Amino acid sequence: MNSINQSGWKPEMGNAGDTAPATYTGNKALMLEEALIFEIGTAGTTGVDLADAPQVASRLGNLERHRDIGLPGLSEPETVRHYTRLSRQNYAIDLGFFPLGSCTMKHNPRLNEKVARMAGFADVHPLQPVETVQGAFAVIHELAHWLVTLTGMKAVAMSPKAGAHGELCGILAIRAALTARGDARSVILCPESAHGTNPATAAFAGYAVENIPATSEGRVDLAALKARLGPDVAGVMITNPNTCGLFERDMREISDAVHAAGGYVYCDGANFNAIVGRVRPGDLGVDAMHINLHKTFSTPHGGGGPGSGPVVLSEALAPYAPLPFVDKDKDHYRLVEEETAGEHHGSSFGRMVAFHGQMGMFTRALSYIMSHGADGLRQVAEDAVLNANYILRSLEDVLEAPFAHSGPCMHEALFSDNGLAEGFSTLDIAKGLIDEGYHPMTVYFPLVVHGAMLVEPTETESKATLDQFIGALGRVAERAKAGDPSLKSAPHYAPRRRLDETQAARKPVLVWREPEQAVAAE
Ligand SMILES: *Cc1c(COP(=O)(O)O)cnc(C)c1O
Repeated sequence: MNSINQSGWKPEMGNAGDTAPATYTGNKALMLEEALIFEIGTAGTTGVDLADAPQVASRLGNLERHRDIGLPGLSEPETVRHYTRLSRQNYAIDLGFFPLGSCTMKHNPRLNEKVARMAGFADVHPLQPVETVQGAFAVIHELAHWLVTLTGMKAVAMSPKAGAHGELCGILAIRAALTARGDARSVILCPESAHGTNPATAAFAGYAVENIPATSEGRVDLAALKARLGPDVAGVMITNPNTCGLFERDMREISDAVHAAGGYVYCDGANFNAIVGRVRPGDLGVDAMHINLHKTFSTPHGGGGPGSGPVVLSEALAPYAPLPFVDKDKDHYRLVEEETAGEHHGSSFGRMVAFHGQMGMFTRALSYIMSHGADGLRQVAEDAVLNANYILRSLEDVLEAPFAHSGPCMHEALFSDNGLAEGFSTLDIAKGLIDEGYHPMTVYFPLVVHGAMLVEPTETESKATLDQFIGALGRVAERAKAGDPSLKSAPHYAPRRRLDETQAARKPVLVWREPEQAVAAE
């Protein structure tokens, strides 16, 4: 291993920021460059000393491997540093403000982590005898109780493992209810303001998806929706608050119309953070709604997980909820499974997962709910909405805010790319924000707005943090409006410059091999 080249950087990789003077290693201050572990390690090296294995006759026959499998050999500190350097290149809510819209990147109170790590929760196995996991079942049951209470619904299916998985659960419950009454319907209506997972879920479940337009206010076009209802419509999937960051005020009227036409109402509740403690979806006529525990009830979920998407159900859909679930008999918790479902739960559509769902998320969510209390949860919604409106009103004169005229927003502020200089786009602003030390907001979503920029501050950010972000985004936006050419090549200070995003997604370079090695392996 090259002793000067501590991090495995090679001159042909280029430097982190081409405008900055290059260091030999490519490191920028304490932001270290990092190569792939295969580039750093060498096959002959190892971090542990093992005695030579005794010579034994192989029993593998022609399965025996004759070639080195090429695992990189590194010492323990080299290995630890490699992964620690990589982790420093990962932006995280614990490093700074994370304005990603629709994702509710809120702080995760450490109390949740402490509770989730208690051995009685962290070390349980789903096949343990029921008598030995009564405490874990009590957590699931208690959390289920609060989710049903907060949403004003009849029942909850705890097992779905993410929002989109919950959507599938809800749609399968709707189909089971329709099948039970011998009513095969084939269409699900999705408004333009719905989250992209909604039409994807409906299509995945085998339904034809039809679009309902949005009004110029950014809400569901009620008249268009009513006009399309009929005997072929199984239901609607409505995101509320919607992806324009607006509350669907006509929800009650929408639900009544859908029910009158024999359909069911699915509500995408991923944005429950904006209304928790303030609105009960059950009062709005919703039949099924998933709650993203990893959003509203905190927990870290950047990088794809872990998620948890319990689905609350109305009286009409409750009998079709998936199995298994935890029930309480006096002081004893029991598992209702296929064999024990009996006549009360015999109509279940089946299973979403093998076991009970995401235990680690259940403990975090319950810890979050209990530590906030009813007043604290209501304040979560109020502060999240206040913070988003502060951002909307602070930047509406700098960036076009297409729905600013529709009244206050909910938990996220939406801007468009109208008014930028010729040749400048939302992408340039996003890349410019990286140089300012921020993970960009959600871009080009929702699709109803040209060059959308969706900012969700969440309630956990202070006014000082918001002011600093508003200043940074405002400055970058002014540069995009003035046509500052240096913005076109941003980011300048990140470990990587602007990548070809299509190439990076379609042809990622995940494994690097010496050319000789590549030839030898063929
Ligand atoms: C996040 C989100 C989803 C999907 O949830 P996952 O847990 O990522 O599957 C669906 N709808 C909305 C509105 C969301 O914000």
